[in-house]
Amino acid sequence: MTHNSKSKSSKFVVDVHQHWAPLEALKGNPTVSRVTDNAFRVDIKGISSLMYQPYYDIDLADKVNSEAGVDKRILVPSMVVAVLAAGGMPVLEASKRVHDATAELISTRPWLASFATVDPFDPASLVEAERAIKDLGFKGLFLESSWMGRWYDSEEVYPYFEFAQANRYPIYMHPPQLPYGYQIMNKWRLEEVVGRPADTSMSVARLICSGLLDRFPDIQIVLAHMGGDVIPILGRLDFGHRLGYEGLPADQHAHNKLLPSEYMRRNFYADTMGFNLAQLTAAVTVFGTDRVMFGTDYNAVPLSPTEHMDLVNRLGVTESQREDIFWRNANRLFRLSLAETGA
Ligand SMILES: [Zn+2]
Repeated sequence: MTHNSKSKSSKFVVDVHQHWAPLEALKGNPTVSRVTDNAFRVDIKGISSLMYQPYYDIDLADKVNSEAGVDKRILVPSMVVAVLAAGGMPVLEASKRVHDATAELISTRPWLASFATVDPFDPASLVEAERAIKDLGFKGLFLESSWMGRWYDSEEVYPYFEFAQANRYPIYMHPPQLPYGYQIMNKWRLEEVVGRPADTSMSVARLICSGLLDRFPDIQIVLAHMGGDVIPILGRLDFGHRLGYEGLPADQHAHNKLLPSEYMRRNFYADTMGFNLAQLTAAVTVFGTDRVMFGTDYNAVPLSPTEHMDLVNRLGVTESQREDIFWRNANRLFRLSLAETGA
């Protein structure tokens, strides 16, 4: 079955999870090399990954998405800042460069939007995040689930989360190029298919158990890849909390006030990327149909967005709930200004 703007099952389709790399910015970067006519390879710390043509060829990406019936796409700047940093560029400079290149791209393509990405451990870079959102019109913050091997469970990241909460900026969380444990994942795409979802769930566990989400209770985080591995470990996180920590060293006690699973419908959303109807069904159950939003990872994983649409269409939800997943939830959270009624 083919999908296009005439036959699709939703008024709009908003994809909150697409990538883009400004090729110009990567020129001369020592980690990037062309390996085929339509792909580059990125080599960092012994991990090799591929960057396919739709990742850097926006015209091709526009064509595929238009044919699939995707009306609006939010570009996540995952990897590009890290690749630039790995090539020796200071992170703040890399952030500015990616923001400016993305803003220029979007200026002639109103169907695109983006998130702001800065070093969450560098409070001085929040000015750049604010510039990207307020001046360039970006739709929220982008945060890697771990930042160059560091996690968000200490006071060092309070300014970042304070900034997000005070301004009501949603955070889109996506695993990094090199997830934790990447050293044992240097083949079979293991860092991509196994390591990255694990990085997301480790990050969620740390956000909860450190008490960070009690300190910043209004934070809203959209998790890539149906939440990574969060769903299957929720029961385990809960039993850890129920057993308590008495007998463990004091610095190993968790600080969350609620059951870990109770944070899912308060602080988290999940996107639909994962090619697995069973997990998507579970995501709708765990997060709620008002907290799941359409996301495909197209460009990084150049398989047609229609595959993801098919999965959403096969979910056992009402028509209205399907619209929520395809666009209304993203429209509300990211303030995209898509109109409910009209042509
Ligand atoms: Zn992605």
